[in-house]
Amino acid sequence: MLPSIKRINSYVDSVFAGFGTNKTREIARLLYEIAKRDHIPFHSVISNPHGKDFYACKEELLKRRYPSAYSLAGGKSCFYLPKLDVDPSLKVRFSNSSSFRPKHIFVERSVRNSPLARRFKELFPYASFSEIESVKKFLQCELPGNSIRSYNKRGENIFITRENYDFIKPCPCTHGAVSCGYNVLNIGFGCTHECSYCFLQEYQNVPGIIFPANPEDFLKHANLLKPARGMFPYVRLGSGEFTDSLLFDSYTGYSKIISEALKHHPEIVFEFKTKSVAIENIVNRPPGKNIIVSWSLNPQNIIRENEWLTPSLRERISAAAACVRHGHKVAFHMDPIMYYQGWRKDYREIINYVFDRIDSRAIQWISLGTLRFSRVLKKIMENRFPENKILDEEMILGFDGKMRYPDSLRITMYSGILSDIRERSKKTFVYLCMEARAVHASVFSR
Ligand code: SF4
Repeated sequence: MLPSIKRINSYVDSVFAGFGTNKTREIARLLYEIAKRDHIPFHSVISNPHGKDFYACKEELLKRRYPSAYSLAGGKSCFYLPKLDVDPSLKVRFSNSSSFRPKHIFVERSVRNSPLARRFKELFPYASFSEIESVKKFLQCELPGNSIRSYNKRGENIFITRENYDFIKPCPCTHGAVSCGYNVLNIGFGCTHECSYCFLQEYQNVPGIIFPANPEDFLKHANLLKPARGMFPYVRLGSGEFTDSLLFDSYTGYSKIISEALKHHPEIVFEFKTKSVAIENIVNRPPGKNIIVSWSLNPQNIIRENEWLTPSLRERISAAAACVRHGHKVAFHMDPIMYYQGWRKDYREIINYVFDRIDSRAIQWISLGTLRFSRVLKKIMENRFPENKILDEEMILGFDGKMRYPDSLRITMYSGILSDIRERSKKTFVYLCMEARAVHASVFSR
């Protein structure tokens, strides 16, 4: 059972009555996180609390909450201790049916006769169908979408739009990291998987899933792309940033349109990044030299507790193996890698499972990235997935201001996983996603 925030706040207010708002907030936050992680009553956390000075109290709690990071941290400013405000009504509740059944389909007038709008009408005859002038105007007056509550209902609403500007963007990566030169083809926005760590929970400001009806127009801009200097000698383009690349592919058919258009762009390598197993449109086409299908992988216990509504690890790897059997190239993202007791064995098992089933020559790359998220997302995760265990680990503010494991732990994790990959394949290209230069240098110089 989760500790009661109300009871923690009133305990702190009564025991530390003289501390003031900010100090009591920090003490309450630390008590909550320790009691949650250790499954103990919050009032047993501080020994002899009455009359304790704030700094002594905070130091005792920080050492207990961050037993490794506290000594590594040097300064204490890297601990993020926001106000506790978890609203139980925002918790994600899964219904018996997790299938995609939109209730409302909103179509921008300019694309009302598009093939995509017609297809959605046929596929979801029970959904209400409304014409709107534009999503932007509609959201301003009718359905604002920037709250956890509206995010929780995003699967109910579909927006079919004409995209006029936002076709392709360089991946913003993260400040101070080594970039992999990725470009994002902005096809679709939103996802109905429920990954507890997904950045869309913070980023998405539309209470539904957006599907552009004019993907061909996006690809006309592909010839403007130039290879970034660095890791890859070609232009990297992919669609898995603001949505899962294949989750909705049986409805949209985007993969066919993209693969067809990219035939004329051998200088671009396109990646469909997914956790889904919706590979019908991929395997039913001849393989493209510059088309790669990639899966994000995690141990099954992490998938079960954090990647809700997604296919299992085995299903993902079976889908990858099926693509390879049909002649397609694949890649994998071990991202986000989670730290917990037993992580090394579990990630090694994934590596062995992959290389036992898939010819290493078909694997174009494996990227590695440890769990990271913004401060804002921490509070969203607490509200949507209050029982999560991933926030119990020692995560501190990292080089880019995001919550991360300490540098030394990340280096240990990457180095361990890299050496397990090298045991199975000396040649598979491995890179780190959104990592600091110093971490790169340390991992790859060993
Ligand atoms: S599959 Fe990707 S886009 Fe979808 S919820 Fe998970 S992390 Fe987010």
